[in-house]
Amino acid sequence: MGRTLVDSKQSLMAAFIFFALCAFALVPSQATAQVTNDFVPGEVIVKLKSQPSSSGAQRFMGKATSLKGLQLRRSWSGINMHKFAAKPTASGSPDVQALVRELQADPEVEFAEPNYYVRAQSSGVEREITAQEFQTMAVEGVMSQTNAHIAAEAAWSILTPGQDAIVVAIIDTGLDYNHSVFVNSSAVWQNPLEVAGNGIDDDGNGYVDDVRGWNFVANSASPMDDDGHGTHVAGIVLGVTQNIQANPISQANIKIMPLKFLDGSGVGTTSDAIEAIYYASNNGAKVLNNSWGGGGYSQALVDAINYAYTKKVVFVAAAGNAANNNDANPTYPANYAFPNLISVAATNDWDSLASFSNFGQSSVHMGSPGVSILSTLPNNTYGYANGTSMATPFVSGLAALMLRESPTMNGYQIKQLILSAIDASSALTARVSTSGRLNVLTSVQKAQTTDPDPTMPAYTGSSAGAERAPAAAQMAGGCGLVGRSILELRNGGGSGPSATPMRNLAFFGLLMVLMAPVLISILLRKEGARNNRRYDRFQIASDVRVRVGDRELVGQVSSISLGGVQLNADAWLEHGGIVTMQIVSPDGQDAIKVEGKVVWCEEQKRYGVAFQNAEEGALAAISRWTQGLLKI
Ligand code: CA
Repeated sequence: MGRTLVDSKQSLMAAFIFFALCAFALVPSQATAQVTNDFVPGEVIVKLKSQPSSSGAQRFMGKATSLKGLQLRRSWSGINMHKFAAKPTASGSPDVQALVRELQADPEVEFAEPNYYVRAQSSGVEREITAQEFQTMAVEGVMSQTNAHIAAEAAWSILTPGQDAIVVAIIDTGLDYNHSVFVNSSAVWQNPLEVAGNGIDDDGNGYVDDVRGWNFVANSASPMDDDGHGTHVAGIVLGVTQNIQANPISQANIKIMPLKFLDGSGVGTTSDAIEAIYYASNNGAKVLNNSWGGGGYSQALVDAINYAYTKKVVFVAAAGNAANNNDANPTYPANYAFPNLISVAATNDWDSLASFSNFGQSSVHMGSPGVSILSTLPNNTYGYANGTSMATPFVSGLAALMLRESPTMNGYQIKQLILSAIDASSALTARVSTSGRLNVLTSVQKAQTTDPDPTMPAYTGSSAGAERAPAAAQMAGGCGLVGRSILELRNGGGSGPSATPMRNLAFFGLLMVLMAPVLISILLRKEGARNNRRYDRFQIASDVRVRVGDRELVGQVSSISLGGVQLNADAWLEHGGIVTMQIVSPDGQDAIKVEGKVVWCEEQKRYGVAFQNAEEGALAAISRWTQGLLKI
């Protein structure tokens, strides 16, 4: 337990609630054990506890280079992470695992980990066609990226004219920006402040001559695609937003920012992924397409995605192509539970799960076409390809269209709208959390008719302190509740994010939870709404800690009733489920055990844990304990 935890305990003398787990386990320890040897020889990613300019950080840097023989290769100051390379030893590459353990033990180090490999999530090109064949198909009216009824063309007819194009980062193998679809169009992002070829970092973003993105593999200004995967993905993104048969495109609705981090074999590293995410987030991309995955759980990658979350982007990730249940065996980054992250499975023309596609009733959000998808390929050709890599860019393109209609919406709201606008398919029941496939028209309509909501769940997924939490969410009052709650994910043992100003009202002090996440379904949300207002609810404000594997959530709980406790905890509760709580009274003399179900109150947009099958004795105890608390 961290210091603040103990302080809280002392000051509040409050109760401990132990949630112990639930169905559909998605336990991080499984994740860390998943892949152990698939990493770059000799490289480590290190996050320091103190800022780069601090004496502690400088002391570490000195130690790392002089004593440990490490060479600093990259730094990402905004997230205080660095990549080091170890000098080869006489016997070959150094032992990365041993180096990680050594670094973990350093008092200046928050965490250290290997630099995992990741890979493109497609199963290759099924069939190539020439530009001439493509144009013939277009004239004959048979050209379509997918035969699934996603209603993209219907959406184009209702778009608001004159809106600014939204930038979509394609974090992939690059882009053939000389392809006829892209070369003369306005569909490729141009860095407005960079002058091409003058050898100067004109905009001071750390990259010289990055006029249209970056190549993190070669560390060059040319993100040219030497594989084809990224060009295919980019063509899908663009093709969702407008007719790519119109050649050249005079006025693009989106702009592709090609960020090449996968090499010509479709293989990349976590550190380059981090750098690409960092670049995209800092240079104006609003949607990040991630048709790649693999490697073990990476706290470094989580921190990078969290950085993107604070920038309010939409992060779309491929669920993977191993016909795997991601609830049981996580695929990263798709399984990271960020409120702005959409995990996408591949479906066929009939809205059934593709045979190769990963799935997960809890961890995969939606289906999207990923079988025989027609798109652009390098050297002015086209082709059909399969994969969740192909399914993901449909969602990215859709997100960009929605943001084009409503530019101030954040990634969290866009995700909520897309998931609420799916076309249900019985074949996807229990395969993805929404049991449906994207619908472009319905989603765009929702973006046009829904007011932008700046609310974002507080969530860092991070081991860092509260200073790096997203802007404190302006939570709507929930289910008659007063006050708000903050929750963030961190490694165990850190200091708490905030001292509650309402401690005099505190009833429950600490909430220790062991739970495994399950995605809350639309059905569950409705049920949650129904479950509210059945009991008198009492206002409390107390610290809450949620332990998930080796990580820990920290936040506040805001109310209690005979029906359950109320949290505003999208960070973990969006992956809700059944939890068992052990509640100890403030004086430590009394304890009850209650089973609860994570629910969503649509009216107030809050999560809670509704008690289920609570014994009379337990409810009587709560009645006793709540005497004297403010009813709300
Ligand atoms: Ca630059």
